[in-house]
Amino acid sequence: MASEIDNAPVIATRRDEAMGFFQRMVSKGLGWARKYSLFTYPFATACCGMEFMSVAASRYDIARFGAEFPRFSPRQADLLMVVGTINLKQAPILKRVYEQMTEPKWVVAFGVCASSGGFYDNYAVLQGIDRIIPVDVYIPGCPPRPEQVLDGLMLLQDKIGRQVHRIADKGEPNATAAQHNLLASMNK
Ligand code: SF4
Repeated sequence: MASEIDNAPVIATRRDEAMGFFQRMVSKGLGWARKYSLFTYPFATACCGMEFMSVAASRYDIARFGAEFPRFSPRQADLLMVVGTINLKQAPILKRVYEQMTEPKWVVAFGVCASSGGFYDNYAVLQGIDRIIPVDVYIPGCPPRPEQVLDGLMLLQDKIGRQVHRIADKGEPNATAAQHNLLASMNK
């Protein structure tokens, strides 16, 4: 049964409405700027790395989408591209890289190995990076075609554009309890 608080009418003053308007404008502006200035950290471990290079090269030219600058320090990156197979020994390293990245940040699982372990259905391979970090976009394929990668990037840009942005972002909790438990068990 709904509580009395749930039934109480919400009173929005004109000041609240005005603040809401300005916050919406700021959020929209920040979203627009952030989605067209992604700084990618490519966590490339396997054959999908070739396809990542292809997307960055002149034929497909990821620069058209404002995401052409790879950053090899996580502190300067806001898009983590996990490209290739992640085995259990690499999982804590991937998690640390994610935690070191600047806020707000997004994650793309590039190819089936990063998304679900792919055909490496065995004890040594992480069966999807979403077991340890949150993922925003999954790109299927083994390896994915560059067009699929660009499609995934546009999906992410659309998602970023619709998110709420603040000038000072405190960030979300990085991992769920299940993700922490899995990492703890790996470290034993
Ligand atoms: S998805 Fe296929 S191409 Fe990509 S890393 Fe796995 S096996 Fe290699």
